[in-house]
Amino acid sequence: MLIIFLFLLTACMNSAEELPEAENNAFLMDTLVQMRAQGENAEITVEESMEKIKEIENLMSKTIESSDIYKLNNNPGQKIEINNGTMTVLKRAKEYAEITNGDFEPAIGALVDLWGIGTEDAGVPSESKIEAALANTGYEHLKLRDNSAEITKAGVKLDLGAIVKGYAASEVKKIVEKYGVEHAFVNLGGNVLVIGNKADGSPWRIGIQDPRAGQGTVMAVIDSVDMTIVTSGNYERYFEENGKIYHHILDPATGYPAENNLLSVSIISENSFDADALSTAVYIMGLEKGMDFIENMEDVEVMFITEELDVYLSSGLDEIVEIKNSDFELIENNNFAD
Ligand code: ADP
Ligand code: MG
Repeated sequence: MLIIFLFLLTACMNSAEELPEAENNAFLMDTLVQMRAQGENAEITVEESMEKIKEIENLMSKTIESSDIYKLNNNPGQKIEINNGTMTVLKRAKEYAEITNGDFEPAIGALVDLWGIGTEDAGVPSESKIEAALANTGYEHLKLRDNSAEITKAGVKLDLGAIVKGYAASEVKKIVEKYGVEHAFVNLGGNVLVIGNKADGSPWRIGIQDPRAGQGTVMAVIDSVDMTIVTSGNYERYFEENGKIYHHILDPATGYPAENNLLSVSIISENSFDADALSTAVYIMGLEKGMDFIENMEDVEVMFITEELDVYLSSGLDEIVEIKNSDFELIENNNFAD
């Protein structure tokens, strides 16, 4: 028995070792993209995936002049023919805007540009400028037809920064599946997707970044198979003025960065596309409303980290999150009454 068992074990290990492996890192979509795959077609899978991400960036970037989004933003009142992929993202973005009551707002480009967070021109705008940008915010000004789209009000601008990386990850998943690659990992600047387990049979271990600004360490680990983890936090892009932090997740109801005592929100689910939109929306909703929202969705889980370093998990996560840093405290009973 023991001999057979050992033989099986080594057979397994050998086949894992023999699988071809491929890896690539690139700066795409304004962030570091890392991909790894293991399987017969690993190389072509990684190559095609990176090309796909680049293609999506070229279609949906706000700043690339030939992109669909640039054309829409700069030609208000005109019907613009757009690529199928862009249409898919715009449709899903509108759906998310609707189900989150506008917390997720794809037509938030005017405000994003005004704040300029992450650029050299970042600064707190005047009230009147915020008012003006708010008047040019709102997905109701985006009209979608069969294969064309239109911005119906001059000054309204789309910004797909909160959803496009999730879409890209879901497209990568299709490529991985097409080539029958069983083990793969892609990280688009904090949007992590794992496909299958690791080739040695163990789950991937995804680290959740310590959300305290400037900390490059991991505060928790989640064992993951066929899963996506997307984090939105106030520490990613921000500036400080008079001791106050202004970050890049804007509340469309106020025109200011969302203020709700949260450092980060991580969404855990199988679907990257949804997880990206949700991480941004749930960050804006805040702990109580956001937890409620996620608990009412099937197959989606969430982890909140507050400024006090308290950690709140939705009901499906208890077993799989391992907190690695004792500065963080898991709040078990989800009792929000303070
Ligand atoms: P990241 O892109 O850093 O991973 P998010 O997915 O949370 O983080 O997206 C934040 C980006 O989305 C911002 O930089 C901005 O471009 C855009 N954005 C900001 N506020 C909103 C909002 N309320 N709804 C939709 N997109 C937003
Ligand atoms: Mg997002």
